[in-house]
Amino acid sequence: MQKKTEYFTDDQLRYILKTDDSIFIEDLKKKARDITKSVFSNKIYIRGLVEISNYCKQGCYYCGLNRENKNIKRYRLSKEDIIKSCDFGYSIGFRTFVFQGGEDPIQDDDFFTDLISEVKKRHSDCAITLSLGIRSKKSYQKLKNAGADRYLLRHESAQESVFNKLHPNDQSLKSRIESIKYLKEIGFQTGTGFMVQAPFSSIESHIKDIKLIRNLKPQMIGIGPFIPNKNTKFKNENHGESEITTRLLAILRIENPFSLIPSTTALNSIDDEGRIKGILSGANVVMPNLSPKMAKENYNLYDNKKSSGLESANALKELNDYFKKYGYEIEISRGDYLGE
Ligand code: SAH
Repeated sequence: MQKKTEYFTDDQLRYILKTDDSIFIEDLKKKARDITKSVFSNKIYIRGLVEISNYCKQGCYYCGLNRENKNIKRYRLSKEDIIKSCDFGYSIGFRTFVFQGGEDPIQDDDFFTDLISEVKKRHSDCAITLSLGIRSKKSYQKLKNAGADRYLLRHESAQESVFNKLHPNDQSLKSRIESIKYLKEIGFQTGTGFMVQAPFSSIESHIKDIKLIRNLKPQMIGIGPFIPNKNTKFKNENHGESEITTRLLAILRIENPFSLIPSTTALNSIDDEGRIKGILSGANVVMPNLSPKMAKENYNLYDNKKSSGLESANALKELNDYFKKYGYEIEISRGDYLGE
């Protein structure tokens, strides 16, 4: 294990994100995966993703769940549906459940505190991760008190001018960062991250993303390519590239040796080899989809989202066989943050 965390200079970051030197890039990715192996061995942590609702009161311009989208069939899972997914997930080996959703006013604090206590009662050896967007400090604290362990809240873009073009003006980067810091402060293992090559972003804005992450020191870092959704104003934009995403993953791993970093569904949705490319660039987590069929079909953040095949939680054995071909294997445990 290296003693002192290495941070790249801005010029090094520019070079990494621009160069055509494939040997240099392969060395960089190898360095990243060697660091991952020194911390996590050859183990890939798994999280069962339950997409609990696609109702949302926010208007994020890139996201297919945004409140303005009238061309989407809205659904919300009941507490019983979610518990059923967790029970099934538990029976096949999941020890972390991620509840992700739009910001659905009907799923209020009481709904979640009940849900969290019930899941913890049934499966006390499991971790619960929440990905429920912006809530009040009081609400975050209630969710923590109910037993939730982790919270994912991406900053989306650390460059204010980009953030403001991706979100309506009822959201601000400053308040998002405050929420992320608060979540960490009250004891959540906290995740942040950003979309790669979202509209208006640039190499310079991604350098700001990397530096914000240095500053926040999150326990989890999630990044994936931006992918257009046909029902949003960004429908004609290009998706982010697999190659830039994996270079960013390698940078983030080298700078954050202990962080839990997923190889995301978004990466695998634009590149059939995306899942393993993410792992070979330093990621150590995958989040197979444990949602009921109806949720899978309608939780469309972006177009052509993969949720079947190895993205489906049912295929854990096949997923393990797939990773074994590359010298990795799935770890059946909560997979908590191992840093200090
Ligand atoms: N409502 C929650 C969960 C959002 S979905 C929240 O706001 O945190 C989780 C992540 O999906 C978002 O943070 C965003 O980075 C990503 N996402 C949304 N739309 C996307 C798109 N069009 N392309 C790629 N990623 C997208």
